[in-house]
Parts: sequence; C-alpha cells; structure tokens
Amino acid sequence: MKRTRIFIDPGHGGRDPGAVANGMRESDIVLQVSLILRNILQNDGIEVIMSRTSDITLTLLQRTQMANNSDADFFISIHTNAGGGTGAETFISATKQQDRPFATTINDNYVRIMGLRNRGVRLDTQAFVGSLHVLRQTRMPAILVELAFIDSPLNNPDVNILRNRRNDMAQALSVGIVEFLGIDLNIPNVASWAVDAWYWAINYNITDGARPIESVTRQEAITILYRYNLLAYQSGFGINPNTSQIDIPNADNWAIVPLSWAMSLNISDGTRPKDNITRQEFITILYRYTMRLMIDSQAAATLDTNIEENEQNNTFNDVANWALDAWLWAIKISLSDGTRPTDSITRQEVVTLIYRHTNRL
Ligand SMILES: [Zn+2]
Repeated sequence: MKRTRIFIDPGHGGRDPGAVANGMRESDIVLQVSLILRNILQNDGIEVIMSRTSDITLTLLQRTQMANNSDADFFISIHTNAGGGTGAETFISATKQQDRPFATTINDNYVRIMGLRNRGVRLDTQAFVGSLHVLRQTRMPAILVELAFIDSPLNNPDVNILRNRRNDMAQALSVGIVEFLGIDLNIPNVASWAVDAWYWAINYNITDGARPIESVTRQEAITILYRYNLLAYQSGFGINPNTSQIDIPNADNWAIVPLSWAMSLNISDGTRPKDNITRQEFITILYRYTMRLMIDSQAAATLDTNIEENEQNNTFNDVANWALDAWLWAIKISLSDGTRPTDSITRQEVVTLIYRHTNRL
C-alpha cells in the first residue's frame, strides 16, 4: 500500500472569479473549502498537492500540466454550480468512465451528509465546456464536484450551505475520499512526528499500521527489525535473512523465524519474548544489528558506531551499563533524543527509529 497522493484543484481564481451571486464569488468558496479539505486529508495521512492556495489566475492547461507532473493518484476539481438549480453533482469524463466508482462514492457521501439534492454523477459529453477540460486532460482518475448552486433560490439549502458551512463541506468530501481509499480512520492516532515513518513502514510491510501508541513486546520488536532487514537485503545492503529455526520457549509462531535470526547473529538472546521492550533495550538491539550490518555492507559505513572514551562520561544515570554505548551512539547520529531509557517503547517509536536509521544509510 503506497501512500496516496491527491491533487486538489480549486476552480477559477485571480482574474476569473467564476460564478458570482448572493454576495459570494465561486473562486473564494472553492479555495476555502479546498484548503480545509487539504488539512483534513493530510491528517488522515494522505499527501495533497494543490493547483492554487491563493487567489491567483491559472489556465486550465496549467492545472492539468501541474496534475500530470505531480504523479498524483487522484484529481479533484472543486466548483460551485450556477443557473438557478439546487443540489450537488459530480462530473467525470465520458472517455474515463472507469472513474465512476470514485465519483459516486464522493458524490453520494457528500449530498447525504450535507442534506443536498443528489443530482448524481454526470458525464462530460462535450456538451459541457469550460472547466470540464481538466477531466479529459488529466492522466489519473479525475472528478469535478459542483458543491451547490451559488445562485439558487433562497428556499433551497444551497446558498446557506455555501455561505456558512465550508468546514462541513470539506469534511463531507473527505468522508467519501477516505471511504473510497479504504483508509482506516484509526490511523490519526499516530503522532505527527511519526506519520512519515508510519506510512513508510506500512508501504514496505514492516508494520500492519495497527496500534501505533501501544507498547511493543520483545518478539514484536525483533519481527519489525527482521522485516526492516528483509527490505534492506532486497535492496542489496542488508544481512542475509535466511536462518535455521531454533526452539524458543514462549514465543508465538510468527516470531520464531525473526527470533532465530536475531539469536544466530547475537542481536538478541531470545528470552522473555512476550515482555514489553524498553527504549534502551531496543536501541541496543538496533546498535548490535548496525555493527553486524557494517561487517556485511559498505552502505552502513556512515552509521558511525565508534564511541570514544571521552564520550562515555555517563551523564545518563538511568541508562544501564550494558546499554550505554548503544545509547550514546543513538544520540550521536540523531536517532534518539536520549530520554526515558527504561520506559516501554511504543510501536510508532520503534518504526520511527528504524525509519531514521534507514535515512542515515
Ligand atoms: Zn466553476
């Protein structure tokens, strides 16, 4: 699962205000909704790229070129309708009808949540001109959402929604996007400092993305390290992951191979597999792994494992003697801030440490 990238195109802007009615300009409404939507999606771990983030003029060609160059997975253009009707509708290109499920999921969630009339998903059949160009010229699945009618009669909900409920519109759009992408909404539990590492680890099957703030057991920590090494090995610089299995009391079946591997390399002694692992214990394991890696791989030469005598003045009273070299090393190469050595380490912390480790290589 790759981290999803969405391109958001707020329609019009600059010299082109779009439709103007009831004291509002289309270009202002769609920009504000798009900026809020960007924040919501980013908090859900989705990458967002925008055609504009301020009131500037862009041609349709500039918008599609930016989108195609961005390598985005999806394109969403946001507009308001005009012509005196009521409700929301979503357009797709007649030449890209495979985009219909994406359009339907977003459109139907949006109208249901906002209480708007559902005008449905409609095809750009060339009878419609103007902004629909972006649907045909983008290479990724593309939709154009008409949020509501800016010039609707005031007995309809449209104008009130466009004027007063821009947060709600963005939220309602995000519900369909997230549903379509199948993203687990529990993921926002991940701390902001861990988000990049977390998605990297999910992408490479190092973690399944569950329970970021829970403590990690020794067998889980070794398994995460084993999967990280597997990734490194496949990229040409890890340690051979092949190992003969050892009988390990109390370990779960899924952890036998990783624990056997770690024991054969003297990275872990394999004891107490179901106990929680502390920060100093995991950093020690990572340090031992790195020293093995330096024997096997040139790539690890940048991970300086030398701790000088004069660096060993133990100002870290809580750090165990057996963990001190590893602890100083982790601080020296900015893997860790050197706090709370005896605390249990969480899953998002483990993943962040190995993410930083791979970025030091
Ligand atoms: Zn428009």
